Amino acid sequence: MMSPLEFFKNLPKKMCAECGDHIDEQAESYLIECDRCLSKKEE
Ligand SMILES: [Zn+2]
Repeated sequence: MMSPLEFFKNLPKKMCAECGDHIDEQAESYLIECDRCLSKKEE
C-alpha cells in the first residue's frame, strides 16, 4: 500500500503561474495562480 506521502507525490502539482508556489487544491481548481498573486492583481 502506498503511503499518503507517496500518493501526494504522484499527484500533479498545481503551481502558481505567477510565482511558482504550490496551489492548494480547492473548489476553484481552474485557478492557475495562488491566492497571494490573485489578491495582488485585484488591488
Ligand atoms: Zn503566486
